[in-house]
Amino acid sequence: MTTPAASVDFVDHIRDRVRGPVVGPSDDGYEEARSSYNAMHDRKPLAVARCVDDADVMAVVGVAREAGVPLAVRGGNHSVPGFGTCDDGIVLDLSGIRYVRVDPKARTARVGGGALLGDLDHASHAFGLATPAGFISTTGVGGLTLGGGIGAYLSRRYGLTCDNLLSADVVTADGQLVHASADENADLFWALRGGGGNFGVVTSLELALHPVKEIVGGPIFFELEAAGDVLRFYRDYIRRAPRELGGFFAFQIAPPLPFIPEERQGDTLCLVVTSWAGSPEDADDVLEPIRSAGPVVAEHVGAMPYPALQSAFDDLVPPGIRHYWKSDFVRALTDESIAVHLEHGPRVPSVTSTMHIYPTDGAVQDVAPEDTAFGHRDADFSVNIAGMWPDAADDARHIEWVRDYYAAIHPHSGYDGGYTNFMAAEDQERVRANYGDAYPRLERIKKEWDPDNLFRLNQNIAPGG
Ligand code: FAD
Repeated sequence: MTTPAASVDFVDHIRDRVRGPVVGPSDDGYEEARSSYNAMHDRKPLAVARCVDDADVMAVVGVAREAGVPLAVRGGNHSVPGFGTCDDGIVLDLSGIRYVRVDPKARTARVGGGALLGDLDHASHAFGLATPAGFISTTGVGGLTLGGGIGAYLSRRYGLTCDNLLSADVVTADGQLVHASADENADLFWALRGGGGNFGVVTSLELALHPVKEIVGGPIFFELEAAGDVLRFYRDYIRRAPRELGGFFAFQIAPPLPFIPEERQGDTLCLVVTSWAGSPEDADDVLEPIRSAGPVVAEHVGAMPYPALQSAFDDLVPPGIRHYWKSDFVRALTDESIAVHLEHGPRVPSVTSTMHIYPTDGAVQDVAPEDTAFGHRDADFSVNIAGMWPDAADDARHIEWVRDYYAAIHPHSGYDGGYTNFMAAEDQERVRANYGDAYPRLERIKKEWDPDNLFRLNQNIAPGG
């Protein structure tokens, strides 16, 4: 490898080896190609290589390894800490591999490594099928699944996204393509389910699907003064409700949506976003008690195709705004911790910012802790404090809100670690705690498949053991 990394020739050197477009700093389209969903990360890679197949991915991994430059792997580009981009390295962009092929008989989907949740939901919905995943449709299936994948609406019923991963094709650090499943490279398959992007580039995922077509759900906004009652009710109710009930609690400034009375738009409220995936005839019986948890300001609950709820909040989080998040799992949502939420939640600083509490009980807890790398199977909830705002001038105010809230709530979590996919960049020291007893096994598997830590732009597990 004689081509100097920081040269036009280096871009050509990659271009010669891949079929997808490769964009360097002197090319048209560089600004768009390098842009991050989270505008806090203004990085200047040497090249962005938009791979279109396994061979492209193998080639780009090889070039990065030989040149000794940083390698950032990007699927849906939603990494809040900015792991999908880098300075002075290569961005391996999987957005050219976005196919979804559903096998309705087997109830599985074969999904390209760069596919988005919206791609998966759209293709599966045609067959009345779905799998639990996040609820902003522009999020990548790859990054979400590898870190675990909390589906606020379907995880109580069908587990985490990674619990539905049946197999994966992985380009490893030596540039080879391997298959990972329960029968083949089983250790690698175990690590992929929760261990994040540490072990290679996943070019294809096989996911189990379940019969989900229509759901009854949507947001119910309550007066802020009732937040304590609503949150205590949500905590108790969701845990004893049938697993077909999903949804989350949130603090939010009421956005300018048509179903919210104009005079209440801009008020800070609390809400429960509901999702009933059971029989539609039972929906009223299950959802009515939630309405009576407090005085309702506005609601938008009804029957809809599952992908409609999955993309209902997309417009609140367009690409190019700024993000700073911190999160925790929660062993038990105690009255003391609710008091902390009541102090910090109402200070939510902007209409796009929020604090969410997702349920992680039910089917998530059916999986034995040692069966996947995902940590904290015994947590009942996951808390995510998400600062999201458009203007750089507001950085300090938002970051301060998230940090203060987190500092106050973390002692009530019951855990040191958090959810890999919601953690901030500076949370790297929490990674070991995320995985607890599974960490030494992850270090060994990392050493086997990526001994030089080529895949290090992530919540990193260093090779060890
Ligand atoms: P990218 O920035 O493309 O990738 C992030 C990292 O993931 C990469 O650096 C790489 O390390 C790894 N990676 C991605 N794809 C691959 C691949 N194919 N092979 C190997 N490594 C890969 N999470 C939930 O669990 N539930 C939610 O409801 C949810 N909602 C979200 C909503 C928003 C608006 C955002 C911004 C994030 C949300 N997340 C949610 C968090 C999400 O799971 C993570 O941000 C995840 O990393 C996104 O994956 P991506 O492919 O879009 O990101």
